[in-house]
Amino acid sequence: MKKIILFLFISFTSFAQKTENVFIITSDGLRWQDMFSGADSALIFDKTYTKDSAAMVKKFWKKTAAERRETLFPFMWNKIKNEGQIYGNRWLGNFMDVENIYRFSYPGYNEILTGYADIKINSNDKKDNENVTVLEFLNNKPKYKGKVAAFSTWDCFPYIINEKRSGIPVNSGDEKVIVNPSPKEVLLNEIMEMSPPAHAERADFVTYFFAKEYVEKNKPKVLFLSFDDTDGWAHAGNYKEYLESAHSFDKYLQDLWDYCQSQPKYKDKTTFIITTDHGRGDIIKSEWTSHGQRIRDAAQIWMAVIGPDTPAMGEVKTKQNLFQNQIAKTAAAFLGENFENGKEIGKAISSTKK
Ligand SMILES: [Zn+2]
Repeated sequence: MKKIILFLFISFTSFAQKTENVFIITSDGLRWQDMFSGADSALIFDKTYTKDSAAMVKKFWKKTAAERRETLFPFMWNKIKNEGQIYGNRWLGNFMDVENIYRFSYPGYNEILTGYADIKINSNDKKDNENVTVLEFLNNKPKYKGKVAAFSTWDCFPYIINEKRSGIPVNSGDEKVIVNPSPKEVLLNEIMEMSPPAHAERADFVTYFFAKEYVEKNKPKVLFLSFDDTDGWAHAGNYKEYLESAHSFDKYLQDLWDYCQSQPKYKDKTTFIITTDHGRGDIIKSEWTSHGQRIRDAAQIWMAVIGPDTPAMGEVKTKQNLFQNQIAKTAAAFLGENFENGKEIGKAISSTKK
C-alpha cells in the first residue's frame, strides 16, 4: 500500500511540473541595492558619478524606494513581483551571497552554472573550465541534445561553458553569425562591425537580438543569456550609463518573456532564472565601482524567478541565506532533472518550485 501511495505521489508531482524550458539570464555586477530600491541617492545626485544628474534624476528618481525600483525595473517590479519571486533584499533579512571567495566574474559564472565554488578558479583568464555546467549536463541528455545554447556579451563564456567539450554553441563577444544567417543576423553582424566600440566587445543589445533571433529560429529548451554593460559602466564610475544599462536589461527580460508567452512551445512552459555574478563595494568607501576578493560587500547578490511552477511570493521576506551555488541545481530541478557533476554542489532552492 505504501508503495502505491508513493508511486501515486511521484506520478502526481511529475505530472504537475509544467516547465519544459529554462532560461538563465544574468546582468554582470548589477547591485542588489539598485534592484530593491532603484536609483541610489548617494550616486544619482553626485555629479562625479552622474554627469547629467538633473536628467537622470528626472527619469529615475522618485520619492519612495518602491516607486524608484519600479521605474528602473518595470518588468521586475510588476510582472515578476506579482507572479514570481525576487530574492536578496538584505534590508528584509533575505540574504543571497556568492560562495566563492573571489567575487569576480569567472568564479561567479562558474558557480552559477556548475553549482560549485571552485577555489582553483581564481582569474578571468580564458581557460577551459574543468567543471561540468548544468548546461553541459542537460545537453548530454538525449532530451536536450542540441537544444541548449548560450549568448553573452563577455567573450570568456566559450571557456566557462567549455564550448569545445560540451558542444554547446556559445555566441560571445564580437562573434558573428556566419552559418545561414537570417536577414536580422546579417544586419546584427553589420551593426556589430560598424558601430563605435562599446565598453566590451559588443553592446548588450546586440547580444540580446542575436539571442532572440536564435530562440525564434531554433527554439532551444535551455538558454543561457549573459549581459555585461552594467559591470562595464560601474567600473568606469558612470552611474548614468549603469542605470540606463540596468533599465535596458529589464526591457530585454520583458521582451523575451512576452515573446515566449506568444509561442505555443514556450507559453506557460518556460521558467526564467535571473541573477548576477557578484555584487559591488560600498559607496561610502568609494568602492561601488569595484568588486573582488578584498571587497567584502561584493559577495552580495540577488535572484529572481518566474515561471509556471513558481509560487507567486513576490519580494521574498523569509529570513534566510541562499547561495549562488544553489542556482544550477535549481535550474535543473525545474526540468525534473537532478543535476550532479561529481563536485559538492549547492542544493536546489525548494521554495522556487511548487
Ligand atoms: Zn567587474
